Amino acid sequence: MMKIGVASSPGLAIGKVYILDEAEIDIDKSNIEYSQVQAEIQKLIEAFADARSQIEEIYQKTLETVGEDEANIIQAHLMIVDDPVLLDGIKEIIVNELFKAEYALYKSVEEQVALFQQIDDPYIKERAADIKDVGSRLLKNMLGVPIKDISNMKEDVIIAGKEITPSLMATVDRKHVKGIIAEVGGSTAHTAILARNMEIPAILGASGILASLKEGQLISMDGSKAVIELELDRNKIVEIEKKVELGAKIKKELFKLKDIQTKTLDGHMIELAANIGMPEDAEKAMENGAEGVGLFRTEFLYMDRDRQPNEEEQFASYKKAVEIMDGRPVIIRTLDVGGDKEIPYFKLPKEENPFLGFRAIRICLEDVELFKTQLRAILRASKFGKTLIMYPMIAGVEEVVKANEILEEAKNELRQKQQAFDENIKVGIMVEIPSAAIAADLIVKEVDFFSIGTNDLTQYTLAVDRGNEKVSSIYKSMHPSVLRLIRNVIEVSHGKGKFTGMCGELAGNPLATVLLLGMGLDEFSMSPSSILKVKKIVNSVSISYARQVAQHAMTLSSSLEIENYMKNVLKELELDYILEI
Ligand code: PEP
Ligand code: MG
Repeated sequence: MMKIGVASSPGLAIGKVYILDEAEIDIDKSNIEYSQVQAEIQKLIEAFADARSQIEEIYQKTLETVGEDEANIIQAHLMIVDDPVLLDGIKEIIVNELFKAEYALYKSVEEQVALFQQIDDPYIKERAADIKDVGSRLLKNMLGVPIKDISNMKEDVIIAGKEITPSLMATVDRKHVKGIIAEVGGSTAHTAILARNMEIPAILGASGILASLKEGQLISMDGSKAVIELELDRNKIVEIEKKVELGAKIKKELFKLKDIQTKTLDGHMIELAANIGMPEDAEKAMENGAEGVGLFRTEFLYMDRDRQPNEEEQFASYKKAVEIMDGRPVIIRTLDVGGDKEIPYFKLPKEENPFLGFRAIRICLEDVELFKTQLRAILRASKFGKTLIMYPMIAGVEEVVKANEILEEAKNELRQKQQAFDENIKVGIMVEIPSAAIAADLIVKEVDFFSIGTNDLTQYTLAVDRGNEKVSSIYKSMHPSVLRLIRNVIEVSHGKGKFTGMCGELAGNPLATVLLLGMGLDEFSMSPSSILKVKKIVNSVSISYARQVAQHAMTLSSSLEIENYMKNVLKELELDYILEI
């Protein structure tokens, strides 16, 4: 077992290595005579025309066989090839510097790529990858170098290459390509997004891995853990093949639950919602049967640019998500920046302990304009579907009161401008700091709901950095202390007739489902791919059984005992296979 690169698309795969070797292209840098300029420009125009029709074909195919979102990635390539600035820039180099078309093209593309790569933002870096992708296609067209085709493989393969471009990924043979490994890229790369949507396991950013792989060698990979296995004996192969097969079968079975109501055997209704980061993610949520959005992490809207998004831009994004969810509740969390989520243009001071520092609601309560702009945008979106507001990183009641005062101001500003919003919009907080969980009885009066953020709640309760690999074995959301805080929050909110959800990772962990159900959790919000697994468990038990399980679990004294007990519970229910997929 070898850990490589970045987990970029989950799933287990086995197949023969197919090395995507891109031959180095020799580019003639010699100068031309002025009389040759016209012929070079003609060559250039033809290469652009060929690239256009190739990309158009990929776009259409992606639209028909994969989906609109994925096709949009390819559409961006069409825009690059149609951009007159690119073509004119290359022409200028040919005319003014008397270079052959191929070198002029190479030079111009390299310059643009370098420009985008300087910006320290994964989304902008992606733009550089797109330009590179189109540039390499143009170059190959011009020089008659065949463009790699992985749309028709003869056997099950795992493709490994230095780089797997989005346009290549979009055309991949979905039947035979079982996995993707590339030396460059990361989980936000377009190739990763395509792989996830196509459900093809992928590990990107595995730098230097090609040196360890041989063409035709049988290997296995796990895209969720970013590990590969090179030494496979007969037993291991059979074991992995069985797991892959079982996974596919279970997924198919689970998919049948998509339109079935989420309720326990004795009729207790539960809401299963999705966590999203971009409005488009709401589509994935709907495809997986989400009954709402329990957490819209809005900081991504602030990340993929070099300035704050204005009210209109934010409004458009929130409205889009709300419209896609078509009347289902959408909980929009106000900006949670700081901590590990850096946004360069915010110019936040370097801190000794950023997780305990100036972040999230603490920033918003100081920068009232920043906060109000976002609140107005959310309020306006509430006119288009059920929208709720949620404040992150609340430590005590005074912050909620202050945030609500600013919310009132935002509402008044909209009223003055006669801009409509839902006058009954519900407002809640994330419970992710232990103080908020402990004093939930004081905060509950000021809110309509709680949503428990177990990612931070675990980190702060156990004093374990959630991003530090060294202490990851003691980062346990099913620790008795964390569970006691969760239990307290639910009891307090129910005592006042309010609802409590959970949007931390624990909500999507099948091992915790029966326990949380038994504690009385009303809403579970998670990554869309976990929804149907959790639904299967909820729909297989009665609430009275879940309560007994929770009661017993709370008598156990360590997270290990609790986890083992919950494994046994799933085994007894014959649902433990869900933990394997
Ligand atoms: C959490 O802390 O549990 C949570 C859902 O928020 P985030 O992961 O965005 O910090
Ligand atoms: Mg958090």
